[in-house]
Amino acid sequence: MTITDKDQIIRLLAETPAEDVYRMADEVRHNNVGDEVHLRGLIEFSNVCRNDCLYCGLRRSNLAVKRYRMSEDEVIAIARRAADIGFMTIVLQSGEDLYYTRERMCKIIKEIKRLNVAVTLSIGERTADDYRAFRDAGADRYLMRIETTDRDLYHRLDPGMSWQKRYDCLMTIKDLGYELGSGIMVGLPGQTTESIADDLLFLSHIGIDMAGIGPFIPHPATPLANEAGGTLELALRTMAVMRLMMPDINIPATTAMESLHPEGRIMALQAGANVVMPNVNDADYSRLYELYPGKQAAHRSPAIGRSSIVAKIEAIGRTIGTGQGGHKKKA
Ligand code: SAM
Repeated sequence: MTITDKDQIIRLLAETPAEDVYRMADEVRHNNVGDEVHLRGLIEFSNVCRNDCLYCGLRRSNLAVKRYRMSEDEVIAIARRAADIGFMTIVLQSGEDLYYTRERMCKIIKEIKRLNVAVTLSIGERTADDYRAFRDAGADRYLMRIETTDRDLYHRLDPGMSWQKRYDCLMTIKDLGYELGSGIMVGLPGQTTESIADDLLFLSHIGIDMAGIGPFIPHPATPLANEAGGTLELALRTMAVMRLMMPDINIPATTAMESLHPEGRIMALQAGANVVMPNVNDADYSRLYELYPGKQAAHRSPAIGRSSIVAKIEAIGRTIGTGQGGHKKKA
């Protein structure tokens, strides 16, 4: 039985004992996407951003951040190294940085596609022509969180941005045949349980292939420094309810969960998640991509980082995904 009723969603988010929600989600995950955990190699290739989101450590007003941009060759070399150690999906993420023109991005995508991996982009809002060109260059998936469906909250937290524009981008991406990833943060100031239920209904309604759900973690150099932030329990519960609503999609155990608890990602894998996205940057870059404090920096080397997460995954009786791990839709 797939959950679609808002009152029921609210009860699962706020009343049902958390352990029960996690157990149900774990069972639905097992029955629908199996025990494989898909690993994606995440390259955070630029921390330059034209936006000023109140929650984000990379916001353009945060002048304390040392900004970096990787060269095209550097991104490609890191992707090659990640593919060599077994990653079958490469996720390219950055701030919204238009230095990476359509041409530059297409070159990077085409070169990485030669490695026989799936390519996921997470570079924010671009024009429809850009999205089309990236897709033609071989990009398979696109990840862009809607953050919240409460439009007033969105406009308060993302000054200068438009919720409608973000929604339109998501629809364009979907129409172009990308696998679409979206998601939300939980624990935003002023966000209610009802609003989170609306978010989950929205994500299910637009038919996403991947849901990234993480706690909001206040960053000290942002205007939201003194806010409470989201709890691990709320993030896990929300993710688990998403699994109950969308049994066959891909759901990552998000890095932000690990920032709130050393075993946060393993807990997420036991509450509905089936994907992990280890960072494959060099540690020096990783430290500068600080969306929120405590963000897990890359291990000394991507190979060591990979084997440490693989060991943890196998220790809970799961296996590492053998293919590219796209969304396998159930009839
Ligand atoms: N610029 C791209 C975009 O807008 O989709 C991708 C990069 S953006 C930094 C990645 C995600 O980080 C955002 O969608 C947001 O949900 C998350 N994020 C930013 N600041 C955060 C914070 N303080 N706590 C938790 N997550 C945060």
